[in-house]
Amino acid sequence: MLCSLCRERAIVSQRYLGRQLCQDHFVQDFEERMAKTIVVNGMIEKGERIAVAVSGGKDSTALLFALARAFAGRDVELVAVTVDEGIAGYRDDTILAAERIARQLKVEQMIVSFREEYGYDLDEMVVGKRVAPCTYCGVFRKNALNCAAKRLGASKLATGHNQDDEAQSVMMNYLKGDMERLMRFRPRREQPGLVPRIKPLRDIPEKEIALYAMVNGVYFESRECPYAQLSLRADVRDMMNRMESLFPGTRQRTLQGFERIEDLCKEGWAQMELAECGECGEPCVGERCKACELLGRLRG
Ligand SMILES: [Zn+2]
Ligand SMILES: [Zn+2]
Repeated sequence: MLCSLCRERAIVSQRYLGRQLCQDHFVQDFEERMAKTIVVNGMIEKGERIAVAVSGGKDSTALLFALARAFAGRDVELVAVTVDEGIAGYRDDTILAAERIARQLKVEQMIVSFREEYGYDLDEMVVGKRVAPCTYCGVFRKNALNCAAKRLGASKLATGHNQDDEAQSVMMNYLKGDMERLMRFRPRREQPGLVPRIKPLRDIPEKEIALYAMVNGVYFESRECPYAQLSLRADVRDMMNRMESLFPGTRQRTLQGFERIEDLCKEGWAQMELAECGECGEPCVGERCKACELLGRLRG
């Protein structure tokens, strides 16, 4: 297999583009695609301080690495935020990996834990509960990241979501018929109290992000979260992977289709107004934020 651009030995086949790339062209293409996503969507401007959510997994590690490289010597500051959910036998290794990459790139890092922020580890939260672990984890992680980004004085919060995650999220909302959430998927306007989130890797497939981390020597083999199998996302992921291998480009087309629908709907779909949570002051829909609601249930 030879590179479609230079005839060197190829290390990746991009079937959805009908080409193969050698290591040099792959890395160059990867960084150009991320830069294009950032520029076209106005994700990062000069003078900004960007909080990067770094879990220690391959996506967020690759994101921090690629951003550090893209903005080296430029007027953009990066700071890493790592959330320790408290998942025994899974999180400790990834936290070490997150600390290692932040140190290697000389990026300031803040670690926040569920235990310190909310009084419980995720493991404790889900014992004997009927709610799926991912519900607790998702709500508290979002809350912790937003609070940490504010404490750090960051103007944006960057996450390592990849094209697979994005296509899965869109598909899950279709499958649940949740059009409200689908339309909220890519917010168009800033909301007070909420640090705007950006996803610089959202146009790049998961496999290529892993490869990018590998060729740059920052790949960390992490186990899958022990709770992952309990979610709808796991089934949707399997389905989308099968469709992608049968029909290359499925993910890209799913997202393009969604963007088209979103465009057509933006007039009729007013973005929700957020209020301040009566208990913690974080932005929320209604009177009490999801984190406070779940904490109330845990204490009750
Ligand atoms: Zn090449
Ligand atoms: Zn609250």
